[in-house]
Amino acid sequence: MANILITGGAGFIGSNLCDRFIAKGHKITCLDNFATGHRHNLAELLQHPDFTLMEGDIRDAETCQQACEGQDYVLHQAALGSVPRSVNDPVTSNAVNVGGFLNMLVAARDTNVKRFVYAASSSTYGDSESLPKVEDVIGKPLSPYAVTKYVNELYAEVFAKTYGIECIGLRYFNVFGRRQDPNGAYAAVIPKFVIQLLRHQSPTINGTGDYSRDFTYIDNVIQMNERAMLTDNPEAVNTVYNTAVGDRTTINDMARLLKEYLSAFDPKIKEVEILYGPVRAGDVPHSKASIDKAVQLLGYAPSHSFATGLKEAVNWYWDQLK
Ligand code: NAD
Repeated sequence: MANILITGGAGFIGSNLCDRFIAKGHKITCLDNFATGHRHNLAELLQHPDFTLMEGDIRDAETCQQACEGQDYVLHQAALGSVPRSVNDPVTSNAVNVGGFLNMLVAARDTNVKRFVYAASSSTYGDSESLPKVEDVIGKPLSPYAVTKYVNELYAEVFAKTYGIECIGLRYFNVFGRRQDPNGAYAAVIPKFVIQLLRHQSPTINGTGDYSRDFTYIDNVIQMNERAMLTDNPEAVNTVYNTAVGDRTTINDMARLLKEYLSAFDPKIKEVEILYGPVRAGDVPHSKASIDKAVQLLGYAPSHSFATGLKEAVNWYWDQLK
């Protein structure tokens, strides 16, 4: 059994990773400053003898060193997500996503962590129009957030070459599922629409709704982290992987399916109108991953399609929010 540090462990993806690895019998330390994460995501974990919460900020190098001490693996999730947040406040996004990332890499190197697996992002594909997205073909970043996530990959590559630390980056594609925060100005589109529909409020789609995304259910992301952490294939390390389903759904189709699933609980939701607003700055028109590399090198096989994941997510939100 391993000692695993999960940064951002109070957030959506991090808390799901904590759950999975505690259930597998590992010892988990969660480092989080609750900037966007929540204590209620950790409620059950805090009762577990193998779970330790370390409240702290990755912008503090000493905190990162302390957190990495004695760890076998780091799953680095802590960052400020959201393209619009980074457009509104690029300095803070950079301080956390780049400065904090570098602190974590240095700490992992200094404490001889076995492997550093980190949350990269599909935003790194930027203005590249080629579909499906393959790991080696990227464009120019379209937002400050995308710059920070690309810089993470550059640092990880240089640290692997320079210091021999093992790194794997997972380029997450629009992750959704249980515990994704529906509240706040920077909420992701699926939980935001869920909560609005449950309140019989009209969600607004930015643009015509023809933009498409490779929406990826949380269980597929957990699987990728587990495979990246544990792979003994030497060809599979010191690189990046698309973490996705390999399919794409338009925002219109996503909204339609959400209404259909939620209407099973509350028929009035069928009548709620979808509205349309201006396109958002920094948004990529279309996104669909090739998952061939993850399949070949990590043995990845997505357990959930978009539709099966959405159904589970909707059931979870209904239980929580009804
Ligand atoms: P989240 O906001 O739910 O989780 C991020 C966590 O990091 C939060 O718990 C937050 O409190 C913590 N954090 C933020 N700043 C911190 C700091 N300075 N020190 C310590 N902790 C800090 O977001 P998420 O969706 O779970 O995202 C997790 C990771 O995945 C992030 O790195 C994000 O950029 C990346 N990612 C997410 C998606 C997605 O669709 N959700 C897509 C691509 C990449």
